Amino acid sequence: ATPTAVMVATGVGATNGVLIKGGDALEKAHKVKYVIFDKTGTLTQGKATVTTAKVFSEMDRGEFLTLVASAEASSEHPLAKAIVDYARHFHFFDESIEDGEKNNKATQNSGWLLDTSDFSALPGKGIQCLVNGKTILVGNRKLMSENAITIPDHVEKFVADLEESAKTGVIVAYNGELVGVMGIADPLKREAAVVVEGLLRMGVLPIMVTGDNWRTARAVAKEVGIKDVRAEVMPAGKAEVIRSLQKDGSTVAMVGDGINDSPALAAADVGMAIGAGTDVAIEAADYVLMRNNLEDVITAIDLSRKTLTRIR
Ligand code: ADP
Ligand code: MG
Repeated sequence: ATPTAVMVATGVGATNGVLIKGGDALEKAHKVKYVIFDKTGTLTQGKATVTTAKVFSEMDRGEFLTLVASAEASSEHPLAKAIVDYARHFHFFDESIEDGEKNNKATQNSGWLLDTSDFSALPGKGIQCLVNGKTILVGNRKLMSENAITIPDHVEKFVADLEESAKTGVIVAYNGELVGVMGIADPLKREAAVVVEGLLRMGVLPIMVTGDNWRTARAVAKEVGIKDVRAEVMPAGKAEVIRSLQKDGSTVAMVGDGINDSPALAAADVGMAIGAGTDVAIEAADYVLMRNNLEDVITAIDLSRKTLTRIR
């Protein structure tokens, strides 16, 4: 494209909240064959909500929620925010709904949380830390099996049922014992299905890649109309998926939001960071979709196609 054409397209993009980082990015998007979507925070709203909290031990419900929330308070993950919110709600809102003063304090104050130490985030798996000198693990099956926590059949069945209904089952182990499970729902963005349909009509193949488990992934993919799903993919694995699609010379776009996605955004021919995102993701991307709206994936490809046909 000519410098003028690039300038015009960049301007049109900017008015739509689509930031294009240079002529090369603009050029590449017209021949995109695959668009890889991250699930959490990209196809979904990233506004996860706890729908179920089930204790599978002697522990009292309030105790269980405080324990899990204390552990997750150090995490930035959307699942962690949902868990802390739910526990706070349980403690401060349910029984004292008319006490506005108290509610107000509760939302600002973290005094109800227990002290934790040795926190570590394990991307694609969950988190681990110490509470009362004992280890707490919050995350998926992989995290449990790596720490030799057995999941009894009735708990496995409970988790599988959550997953069939597109929820993520978060498993909690404390002091070597499985103590409970939380079910978390994260609704699709309103425009997600329409965008998937639009891409297919343009001859572009949508693929979903996620660190979440296969059952949840399939349920979400079905809702949004994506046939090609890759689940239980660790952050580095997302970049590998892209490289394997590029092998036959295909142009691959990646749309993602999180720190987890930056290797994939960098590996893609066209990396699109969506939403406020993280600085790392924005850094690694060729496009930044400021409005956090998936329709702008189509806007970006359209803009590139139009720019390149205009100058031919
Ligand atoms: P995605 O690829 O869909 O954005 P992630 O790679 O961020 O998902 O996470 C993959 C899985 O790891 C989650 O579905 C969850 O099971 C687990 N996980 C990650 N972080 C946490 C956390 N803070 N608390 C509980 N589980 C977590
Ligand atoms: Mg994500």
